[in-house]
Amino acid sequence: MTASPAEAQVKDPLAPIAGALFREMGVDGVYARSALYEGVIEKLTAFITSHRDPSAEVLRFPPVMSRKQLEKSGYLDSFPNLLGCVCALHGTEAQIRGAAERYKTGGDWTTSLAAADLVLSPAACYPVYPMVAARGAVPAGGLIFDVAADCFRREPSRSLDRLQSFRMREYVRIGTPEEIRAFRDGWMNRAKGFADQLGLPYALDVASDPFFGRVGQMMAVSQVQNALKFELLIPYYPGAKPTACMSFNYHQDHFGEVWGLHTESREHAHTGCVAFGMDRLAVAMFANHGVDLARWPASVRRALAL
Ligand code: 5GP
Ligand code: ZN
Repeated sequence: MTASPAEAQVKDPLAPIAGALFREMGVDGVYARSALYEGVIEKLTAFITSHRDPSAEVLRFPPVMSRKQLEKSGYLDSFPNLLGCVCALHGTEAQIRGAAERYKTGGDWTTSLAAADLVLSPAACYPVYPMVAARGAVPAGGLIFDVAADCFRREPSRSLDRLQSFRMREYVRIGTPEEIRAFRDGWMNRAKGFADQLGLPYALDVASDPFFGRVGQMMAVSQVQNALKFELLIPYYPGAKPTACMSFNYHQDHFGEVWGLHTESREHAHTGCVAFGMDRLAVAMFANHGVDLARWPASVRRALAL
Protein backbone atom coordinates (compact mmCIF):
# COMPACT_ATOMS: atom_id res chain seq x y z
CA MET A 1 0.00 0.00 0.00
CA THR A 2 1.30 3.44 -0.81
CA ALA A 3 1.69 5.77 2.14
CA SER A 4 -0.22 9.06 2.05
CA PRO A 5 2.04 12.13 1.76
CA ALA A 6 1.45 12.84 5.46
CA GLU A 7 2.43 9.30 6.47
CA ALA A 8 5.46 9.36 4.18
CA GLN A 9 6.57 12.58 5.83
CA VAL A 10 6.23 11.13 9.32
CA LYS A 11 8.35 8.13 8.32
CA ASP A 12 11.02 10.19 6.54
CA PRO A 13 13.95 10.38 9.00
CA LEU A 14 14.85 13.78 7.52
CA ALA A 15 11.41 15.28 8.20
CA PRO A 16 12.45 16.66 11.64
CA ILE A 17 15.19 18.84 10.12
CA ALA A 18 13.24 20.01 7.04
CA GLY A 19 11.45 22.80 8.92
CA ALA A 20 14.73 24.36 10.06
CA LEU A 21 16.18 24.36 6.54
CA PHE A 22 13.40 24.88 4.03
CA ARG A 23 10.02 26.54 3.45
CA GLU A 24 7.46 25.14 1.02
CA MET A 25 6.90 27.05 -2.23
CA GLY A 26 4.00 25.05 -3.60
CA VAL A 27 5.99 22.63 -5.79
CA ASP A 28 7.87 19.48 -4.73
CA GLY A 29 11.64 19.87 -4.90
CA VAL A 30 11.57 23.69 -5.01
CA TYR A 31 12.13 25.31 -1.63
CA ALA A 32 12.94 28.63 -0.01
CA ARG A 33 16.01 28.31 2.17
CA SER A 34 16.38 29.53 5.76
CA ALA A 35 19.17 31.80 7.06
CA LEU A 36 20.56 28.83 9.01
CA TYR A 37 20.81 26.79 5.82
CA GLU A 38 22.26 29.60 3.69
CA GLY A 39 24.86 30.31 6.38
CA VAL A 40 26.19 26.77 6.01
CA ILE A 41 26.05 27.01 2.19
CA GLU A 42 28.25 30.13 2.47
CA LYS A 43 30.75 28.39 4.75
CA LEU A 44 30.89 25.35 2.45
CA THR A 45 31.38 27.67 -0.52
CA ALA A 46 34.34 29.36 1.21
CA PHE A 47 35.74 25.97 2.21
CA ILE A 48 35.71 24.83 -1.43
CA THR A 49 37.18 28.15 -2.60
CA SER A 50 40.07 27.72 -0.16
CA HIS A 51 41.07 24.63 -2.17
CA ARG A 52 40.91 26.38 -5.55
CA ASP A 53 43.88 26.22 -7.88
CA PRO A 54 45.36 29.76 -7.98
CA SER A 55 45.38 29.71 -11.79
CA ALA A 56 41.64 28.99 -12.06
CA GLU A 57 39.47 31.47 -13.97
CA VAL A 58 36.32 32.18 -11.98
CA LEU A 59 32.96 32.43 -13.80
CA ARG A 60 29.50 32.57 -12.27
CA PHE A 61 26.69 31.67 -14.65
CA PRO A 62 23.03 32.64 -14.60
CA PRO A 63 20.46 29.83 -14.19
CA VAL A 64 19.75 29.84 -17.95
CA MET A 65 21.97 29.10 -20.95
CA SER A 66 21.78 28.98 -24.73
CA ARG A 67 19.37 26.29 -25.96
CA LYS A 68 21.47 25.82 -29.12
CA GLN A 69 24.62 25.24 -27.09
CA LEU A 70 22.97 22.61 -24.91
CA GLU A 71 21.46 20.87 -27.95
CA LYS A 72 24.87 20.77 -29.61
CA SER A 73 26.43 19.41 -26.42
CA GLY A 74 24.35 16.23 -26.89
CA TYR A 75 22.05 16.71 -23.91
CA LEU A 76 18.98 15.56 -25.86
CA ASP A 77 20.67 12.20 -26.51
CA SER A 78 21.43 11.69 -22.83
CA PHE A 79 18.81 13.30 -20.57
CA PRO A 80 15.87 14.71 -22.62
CA ASN A 81 13.55 13.76 -19.74
CA LEU A 82 15.34 16.07 -17.28
CA LEU A 83 15.56 19.20 -19.42
CA GLY A 84 13.61 22.34 -18.65
CA CYS A 85 13.22 24.73 -21.57
CA VAL A 86 12.21 28.38 -21.27
CA CYS A 87 8.95 29.08 -23.10
CA ALA A 88 7.32 32.44 -23.68
CA LEU A 89 4.32 34.02 -25.38
CA HIS A 90 5.48 35.32 -28.74
CA GLY A 91 3.54 37.26 -31.37
CA THR A 92 1.56 40.45 -31.67
CA GLU A 93 0.03 42.27 -28.71
CA ALA A 94 -3.38 40.86 -29.67
CA GLN A 95 -2.08 37.29 -29.82
CA ILE A 96 -0.30 37.57 -26.46
CA ARG A 97 -3.34 39.29 -24.87
CA GLY A 98 -5.63 36.62 -26.29
CA ALA A 99 -3.56 33.82 -24.75
CA ALA A 100 -3.31 35.53 -21.36
CA GLU A 101 -7.08 36.25 -21.33
CA ARG A 102 -7.82 32.54 -21.74
CA TYR A 103 -6.50 32.03 -18.19
CA LYS A 104 -9.23 34.26 -16.76
CA THR A 105 -11.98 32.29 -18.47
CA GLY A 106 -10.68 28.97 -17.18
CA GLY A 107 -8.92 28.14 -20.46
CA ASP A 108 -5.36 27.00 -21.00
CA TRP A 109 -3.06 29.91 -21.81
CA THR A 110 -0.01 27.63 -21.96
CA THR A 111 -0.99 26.14 -25.35
CA SER A 112 0.24 29.41 -26.92
CA LEU A 113 3.72 29.11 -25.41
CA ALA A 114 6.63 28.62 -27.78
CA ALA A 115 10.22 27.69 -26.94
CA ALA A 116 12.62 30.58 -26.44
CA ASP A 117 16.34 30.41 -27.18
CA LEU A 118 17.07 29.49 -23.55
CA VAL A 119 17.08 26.36 -21.43
CA LEU A 120 17.46 26.06 -17.67
CA SER A 121 21.07 24.96 -17.08
CA PRO A 122 21.13 21.29 -16.07
CA ALA A 123 24.78 21.47 -14.95
CA ALA A 124 27.21 24.32 -14.37
CA CYS A 125 29.97 23.45 -16.83
CA TYR A 126 28.22 23.30 -20.24
CA PRO A 127 28.77 26.99 -21.17
CA VAL A 128 32.53 26.79 -20.52
CA TYR A 129 33.49 24.65 -23.50
CA PRO A 130 32.11 26.79 -26.36
CA MET A 131 33.45 29.89 -24.60
CA VAL A 132 36.96 28.47 -24.44
CA ALA A 133 36.80 27.07 -27.99
CA ALA A 134 36.07 30.59 -29.29
CA ARG A 135 39.34 31.82 -27.75
CA GLY A 136 41.50 29.54 -29.92
CA ALA A 137 43.93 26.74 -29.03
CA VAL A 138 44.14 25.60 -25.42
CA PRO A 139 47.63 26.66 -24.20
CA ALA A 140 50.24 24.12 -23.08
CA GLY A 141 49.52 23.05 -19.51
CA GLY A 142 45.79 23.37 -20.15
CA LEU A 143 43.17 25.48 -18.40
CA ILE A 144 41.21 25.33 -15.19
CA PHE A 145 37.91 27.03 -14.33
CA ASP A 146 35.86 27.57 -11.20
CA VAL A 147 32.20 27.80 -12.23
CA ALA A 148 28.84 27.74 -10.49
CA ALA A 149 25.17 27.96 -11.43
CA ASP A 150 21.69 27.31 -10.16
CA CYS A 151 20.76 24.12 -11.99
CA PHE A 152 17.41 22.60 -12.92
CA ARG A 153 16.47 18.99 -13.52
CA ARG A 154 12.86 17.96 -13.98
CA GLU A 155 12.63 15.34 -11.23
CA PRO A 156 9.81 16.27 -8.83
CA SER A 157 10.34 14.54 -5.49
CA ARG A 158 9.54 15.06 -1.80
CA SER A 159 12.98 13.82 -0.90
CA LEU A 160 15.29 16.51 0.52
CA ASP A 161 18.21 15.20 -1.52
CA ARG A 162 16.38 15.40 -4.86
CA LEU A 163 15.60 19.02 -5.63
CA GLN A 164 14.41 20.27 -9.00
CA SER A 165 16.37 23.49 -8.51
CA PHE A 166 19.75 23.16 -6.82
CA ARG A 167 23.17 24.75 -6.81
CA MET A 168 26.21 23.26 -8.42
CA ARG A 169 29.82 24.39 -8.09
CA GLU A 170 32.43 22.89 -10.41
CA TYR A 171 36.13 22.88 -11.07
CA VAL A 172 36.63 22.22 -14.78
CA ARG A 173 39.90 21.10 -16.40
CA ILE A 174 40.68 21.33 -20.12
CA GLY A 175 43.87 19.84 -21.57
CA THR A 176 45.50 16.53 -22.46
CA PRO A 177 44.19 13.13 -21.30
CA GLU A 178 47.07 12.92 -18.80
CA GLU A 179 46.24 16.35 -17.37
CA ILE A 180 42.57 15.49 -16.94
CA ARG A 181 43.30 12.15 -15.28
CA ALA A 182 45.78 13.73 -12.86
CA PHE A 183 43.25 16.47 -12.04
CA ARG A 184 40.46 14.00 -11.42
CA ASP A 185 42.56 11.57 -9.39
CA GLY A 186 43.89 14.45 -7.32
CA TRP A 187 40.37 15.65 -6.55
CA MET A 188 39.12 12.16 -5.71
CA ASN A 189 41.84 11.96 -3.08
CA ARG A 190 41.19 15.46 -1.80
CA ALA A 191 37.45 14.73 -1.53
CA LYS A 192 38.11 12.02 1.04
CA GLY A 193 39.96 14.58 3.17
CA PHE A 194 37.04 16.99 2.67
CA ALA A 195 34.55 14.45 3.96
CA ASP A 196 36.83 13.65 6.93
CA GLN A 197 37.17 17.33 7.81
CA LEU A 198 33.40 17.80 7.53
CA GLY A 199 32.81 14.79 9.78
CA LEU A 200 30.80 13.00 7.10
CA PRO A 201 30.79 9.23 6.50
CA TYR A 202 31.43 8.44 2.83
CA ALA A 203 32.24 5.98 0.10
CA LEU A 204 33.87 6.78 -3.21
CA ASP A 205 32.58 4.64 -6.05
CA VAL A 206 32.41 4.36 -9.81
CA ALA A 207 29.03 5.58 -11.10
CA SER A 208 26.89 6.09 -14.15
CA ASP A 209 24.64 8.96 -15.13
CA PRO A 210 20.86 8.31 -15.31
CA PHE A 211 20.88 8.26 -19.14
CA PHE A 212 17.42 8.17 -20.71
CA GLY A 213 15.79 5.03 -22.10
CA ARG A 214 17.14 1.77 -23.41
CA VAL A 215 19.98 3.24 -25.42
CA GLY A 216 20.79 5.15 -22.26
CA GLN A 217 21.25 1.94 -20.33
CA MET A 218 23.99 0.98 -22.78
CA MET A 219 25.59 4.41 -22.36
CA ALA A 220 25.54 3.87 -18.59
CA VAL A 221 27.22 0.45 -18.88
CA SER A 222 29.95 1.89 -21.08
CA GLN A 223 30.45 4.80 -18.66
CA VAL A 224 31.01 2.35 -15.81
CA GLN A 225 33.24 0.06 -17.88
CA ASN A 226 35.45 2.98 -18.82
CA ALA A 227 35.36 4.37 -15.26
CA LEU A 228 34.42 7.83 -16.60
CA LYS A 229 32.41 8.89 -13.55
CA PHE A 230 33.01 8.52 -9.82
CA GLU A 231 30.88 9.84 -6.98
CA LEU A 232 31.37 10.72 -3.35
CA LEU A 233 28.43 9.01 -1.64
CA ILE A 234 27.28 10.17 1.77
CA PRO A 235 24.59 8.48 3.89
CA TYR A 236 22.29 11.07 5.50
CA TYR A 237 21.60 8.88 8.53
CA PRO A 238 22.69 5.42 9.70
CA GLY A 239 21.37 2.83 7.29
CA ALA A 240 20.32 5.38 4.65
CA LYS A 241 20.96 4.72 0.95
CA PRO A 242 23.91 7.06 0.37
CA THR A 243 23.44 10.25 -1.65
CA ALA A 244 25.87 11.38 -4.38
CA CYS A 245 27.16 14.73 -3.13
CA MET A 246 30.14 15.18 -5.48
CA SER A 247 30.97 13.76 -8.89
CA PHE A 248 34.29 13.35 -10.71
CA ASN A 249 33.77 13.23 -14.45
CA TYR A 250 36.04 12.51 -17.41
CA HIS A 251 34.34 13.46 -20.70
CA GLN A 252 37.27 12.26 -22.84
CA ASP A 253 37.26 14.30 -26.09
CA HIS A 254 33.45 14.68 -26.27
CA PHE A 255 33.38 18.46 -25.78
CA GLY A 256 36.68 18.81 -27.66
CA GLU A 257 35.05 17.27 -30.70
CA VAL A 258 31.67 19.02 -30.38
CA TRP A 259 33.21 22.49 -30.05
CA GLY A 260 36.43 22.06 -32.04
CA LEU A 261 38.32 22.62 -28.80
CA HIS A 262 41.96 21.76 -29.50
CA THR A 263 45.41 21.91 -28.00
CA GLU A 264 48.35 23.79 -29.56
CA SER A 265 49.41 20.52 -31.23
CA ARG A 266 45.97 20.45 -32.96
CA GLU A 267 44.69 17.44 -31.01
CA HIS A 268 41.17 17.47 -29.64
CA ALA A 269 41.31 18.75 -26.08
CA HIS A 270 40.06 16.42 -23.35
CA THR A 271 37.92 17.73 -20.49
CA GLY A 272 36.86 16.74 -17.00
CA CYS A 273 35.01 18.29 -14.12
CA VAL A 274 34.58 17.90 -10.39
CA ALA A 275 31.06 18.87 -9.30
CA PHE A 276 30.04 19.83 -5.77
CA GLY A 277 26.31 19.48 -5.15
CA MET A 278 26.06 22.43 -2.75
CA ASP A 279 22.54 21.67 -1.57
CA ARG A 280 23.24 17.97 -1.13
CA LEU A 281 26.40 18.74 0.85
CA ALA A 282 24.57 21.23 3.07
CA VAL A 283 21.71 18.79 3.76
CA ALA A 284 24.32 16.09 4.48
CA MET A 285 25.86 18.36 7.13
CA PHE A 286 22.54 19.04 8.88
CA ALA A 287 21.37 15.43 8.57
CA ASN A 288 24.58 14.10 10.14
CA HIS A 289 25.29 16.81 12.71
CA GLY A 290 21.84 18.23 13.53
CA VAL A 291 20.36 21.70 13.16
CA ASP A 292 22.12 23.24 16.20
CA LEU A 293 25.45 24.51 14.84
CA ALA A 294 26.80 24.98 18.38
CA ARG A 295 26.61 21.21 18.85
CA TRP A 296 28.52 20.30 15.69
CA PRO A 297 31.87 18.59 16.38
CA ALA A 298 34.62 21.11 17.21
CA SER A 299 36.81 19.88 14.32
CA VAL A 300 33.96 20.46 11.85
CA ARG A 301 33.28 23.94 13.23
CA ARG A 302 36.97 24.73 12.85
CA ALA A 303 37.14 23.42 9.26
CA LEU A 304 34.17 25.62 8.28
CA ALA A 305 35.23 28.60 10.44
CA LEU A 306 31.83 28.51 12.16
P1 5GP B 1 25.91 15.14 -11.91
O1 5GP B 1 26.16 16.05 -13.07
O2 5GP B 1 27.11 14.33 -11.52
O3 5GP B 1 24.65 14.34 -12.05
O4 5GP B 1 25.58 16.13 -10.70
C1 5GP B 1 26.59 16.80 -10.01
C2 5GP B 1 26.19 16.95 -8.56
O5 5GP B 1 25.00 17.75 -8.49
C3 5GP B 1 25.78 15.62 -7.91
O6 5GP B 1 26.90 14.92 -7.40
C4 5GP B 1 24.88 16.11 -6.81
O7 5GP B 1 25.62 16.46 -5.68
C5 5GP B 1 24.22 17.35 -7.41
N1 5GP B 1 22.86 16.97 -7.84
C6 5GP B 1 22.50 16.21 -8.90
N2 5GP B 1 21.16 16.02 -8.92
C7 5GP B 1 20.67 16.65 -7.83
C8 5GP B 1 19.35 16.80 -7.28
O8 5GP B 1 18.35 16.29 -7.81
N3 5GP B 1 19.23 17.51 -6.14
C9 5GP B 1 20.30 18.06 -5.53
N4 5GP B 1 20.10 18.76 -4.39
N5 5GP B 1 21.56 17.94 -6.02
C10 5GP B 1 21.74 17.25 -7.15
ZN1 ZN C 1 30.60 19.39 -15.32
